[in-house]
Amino acid sequence: MPDIRPTVGSGALVLNATYEPLCVVSVRRAAILVLSAKAVCVADGEGILHSARSALPVPSVVRLTRFVRVPYRTHVGLSRRAIFARDGWRCAYCRGPAETIDHVFPRSRGGRHAWENVVAACARCNHTKGDKTPAELGWRLHSPPAAPKGMAWRVLGHRAPDPRWADWLDLREPEAA
Ligand SMILES: [Zn+2]
Repeated sequence: MPDIRPTVGSGALVLNATYEPLCVVSVRRAAILVLSAKAVCVADGEGILHSARSALPVPSVVRLTRFVRVPYRTHVGLSRRAIFARDGWRCAYCRGPAETIDHVFPRSRGGRHAWENVVAACARCNHTKGDKTPAELGWRLHSPPAAPKGMAWRVLGHRAPDPRWADWLDLREPEAA
């Protein structure tokens, strides 16, 4: 095993032999895949990794040399971070910066904790809304909340993508305010 120190806060995108995105692994793991000829580096990151015998550029995207069959997760887990990411860190009601999670139909009245009933919200809107529904306040949602879809979500979950991965992921620009 090469002695590779992990690079802080970075990961590498792993593509299948067919260039289909598979997952994100640590840079160290990606380097080991490359050094063991299980993958080839298709995009370099920043810096050089040093092992006892060799040095190689930090891999940002690697492609497996052999095709692997992997069932995709079809469901994106519901987490605070994932909700903020889906909503672009903006309040669903006023489009200001969001810092809280709001249940559109309040939990106190039986609202579900599900993608279709949670939105990012600013503290002011969340406080004003209390246990009322948007309809009761005459508020409108910017867009109806739904579970996120798309390749990037399947591969990344709530993780922020490295811009260098954009060519391999069908990333959509966050909606303009
Ligand atoms: Zn707001």
